[in-house]
Amino acid sequence: MSKNLLITGASRGIGRATALLAASRGWSVGVNYRQDHAAAEEVVKLIVAAGGQAIALPGDVAHEEELLGIFEAMDTLGPLHGLVVNAGVVAPPMPLLEMSSERLRRMFDINVLGSYLTAREGARRMARSRGGEGGSMVLVSSIAASLGAPFEYVDYAGAKGALDVLTRGLAKELGSEGVRVNAVRPGLIDTEIHASGGQPDRAERLGKTTPLGRAGRAEEVAEAILWLLEDSASYTTGALIDIAGGR
Ligand code: NAP
Repeated sequence: MSKNLLITGASRGIGRATALLAASRGWSVGVNYRQDHAAAEEVVKLIVAAGGQAIALPGDVAHEEELLGIFEAMDTLGPLHGLVVNAGVVAPPMPLLEMSSERLRRMFDINVLGSYLTAREGARRMARSRGGEGGSMVLVSSIAASLGAPFEYVDYAGAKGALDVLTRGLAKELGSEGVRVNAVRPGLIDTEIHASGGQPDRAERLGKTTPLGRAGRAEEVAEAILWLLEDSASYTTGALIDIAGGR
């Protein structure tokens, strides 16, 4: 029987690449998205065409009722075994002294509150004391949590720092529940997130300044996420793995 995996923000970028790789390895995948229905359906179609199983799950992770709806729809596949807490946003670059409270609230609502609620719902389903079968959770943080992202987005960096701390703490809470919790911290990955923050050339421009001399690909992050999700990482929990080309 295949294992069930929910990925938030899987309509494009790192979430999409992870969904496709996971499905090719036999996972049944819940493809969450917020607004781009066509893109999410395309991911589902690709998986089904290759002989896999996937469902599209609309909903904003920052709204608790919508998030609960995502998990309830996912429950129709059976017990949850894997969760990738991936949905996240950036905003246009600026120093903190120019940031509005509206911007900060959105950043922390989606990237922190949404991720904590997602992790909580995953834990409630996978924990053995709650009737779950155990499993593995991967949070998609960022190398920005180490670098601080000055003059660009210290708000985003702080939100990702919170995910690093959640990873450490939750791994300790859930170890005896049969659930491993880890994080990947991508660097400059070539996805549409940079355009959404008003800098479409950011990954290419800054990727050249990294030790490996290029931006990363979403598929390269997906490989690490899959390693953490599966038994290949059976003794790894509470780990933060940098996928950042040495940045
Ligand atoms: P992306 O291409 O912009 O994709 C973001 C995904 O998240 C989309 O599927 C989007 O769906 C979804 N999403 C956004 N807000 C959501 C919400 N409130 N509820 C549900 N889904 C939501 O981003 P990406 O580059 O793949 O990034 C994925 C994760 O990696 C993020 O957490 C990001 O912070 C992290 N990361 C990325 C980089 C990088 O360089 N790309 C580096 C470090 C960390 P819709 O289009 O439907 O809104």
